[in-house]
Amino acid sequence: MLTPAVTRESSHLVRLDSAAPASGSRKPLFGLDAVALAAYLEKIGQPSWRGQQLAHALYRQWVTEIDEISTLPRKLRQALAAEGWVVDRPQIVQVFRSVDGTERYLIACQNGNPGRPPDAPPDSYADTVETVWMPDGDGGDGGDQTDGKELQATWPVLPVGAVTKIRKISSQPGLGVGLPVTQRKTQRKTQRKTWTRATICVSSQVGCAVNCQFCLTARLGLLRNLTAGEIAGQVVAVMARQGVELGRDRLNLVFMGMGEPFLNYDHFMAAVRLLVREVGLSPQRMTVSTSGIVPGIERFAQEPLELRPKLAISLNAPNDEVRTAIMPINRKWPIHALIEAARRVPLRSNERITFEYVLLGGVTDQPEHAKEVARLIRRSGLPAKVNLIAWNPGPDIDYAMPSPEAVDVFQEILAVAGIPVYLRQPRGRDIYAACGQLKRTIEE
Ligand code: SF4
Repeated sequence: MLTPAVTRESSHLVRLDSAAPASGSRKPLFGLDAVALAAYLEKIGQPSWRGQQLAHALYRQWVTEIDEISTLPRKLRQALAAEGWVVDRPQIVQVFRSVDGTERYLIACQNGNPGRPPDAPPDSYADTVETVWMPDGDGGDGGDQTDGKELQATWPVLPVGAVTKIRKISSQPGLGVGLPVTQRKTQRKTQRKTWTRATICVSSQVGCAVNCQFCLTARLGLLRNLTAGEIAGQVVAVMARQGVELGRDRLNLVFMGMGEPFLNYDHFMAAVRLLVREVGLSPQRMTVSTSGIVPGIERFAQEPLELRPKLAISLNAPNDEVRTAIMPINRKWPIHALIEAARRVPLRSNERITFEYVLLGGVTDQPEHAKEVARLIRRSGLPAKVNLIAWNPGPDIDYAMPSPEAVDVFQEILAVAGIPVYLRQPRGRDIYAACGQLKRTIEE
């Protein structure tokens, strides 16, 4: 049984700007960039280029043990281990697979929670998050011009109410993991892939404080922020499991898992920098979704384009009255404030701001709501598109799914009004992996 190790947000976060450990004798390497690694190695009398070698091993070869870093001399590896350094990359501890191919992972993250008891098991409550792998994506990147064609849904759409069975596949970290780095590469090559493109949905916090009324994650409350290494490490753990080949496979990242990324801004952006500079992913294939944290959007607008993901705003309602009822955060930052902040984000050519819109049966899915949303977006003057998400049910959440007819009508009204509109497919609903369903539902 899972027990909460930490009840509220932890202020004990690993430092991002130095190679010094957060506390105690465990010193996580994963999360430090090449510059920080080089600075530390220089300090202990090594050439600074060893930092690049170490970063390559962590972020390109995906090692999980210091001893696997064959580019470093054995004596140096031993010295690092003796100093208490460990790789400490997040590890997949449970896998749930949907009939549509989606996988939901329970991932153990330990390096950001130094306050936990030293003998706590890795899956203790505040040290696990959920990450989702969606082969062929969910259609949310339609209109983004990232793959040269609009996506057509080819996966089976799961029936309503197919949410009772949790399929636990294994607690093993994945194909090739556990083998020496060189053999892992061969294994990845021979592994036959059934997907041509994929999306990873990444968590930024354990739980969430925003309290959107339709979301299962909100029921957890906020347990703690994740560190940069823990956020980027989810991506690397899943890439390793799936044998993703950089430059060959089309991989999108969406920061739409557990938590509000802009309430953990520094660690979230540090993770993006790691993923871009060290792991080698493109920020143009990353989208961060915010519930509408205006100071976060304003900071985000200042980020350099070569490091900035695309922005999605969870609008979810046609006006302030409805939005406040389903997203209490709207009292603090109402819709006009979100639009104003979004206007200050400098966009790349062809880039659009995405408005995510959850259709709640009878609450936000009516034709008059669609007309109001169309007016709102047209008046904003923003280059924007709308991603519709038919609400995914969760236990004890008192909303209804929209009818397929209501979804069609809503989409049609926006399309006729000239708003680019895409329907995100519910991936992994049967394993609680779909939007708003991440609450670490597990089977013991
Ligand atoms: S929808 Fe997102 S921001 Fe809102 S409670 Fe859920 S995880 Fe938090």
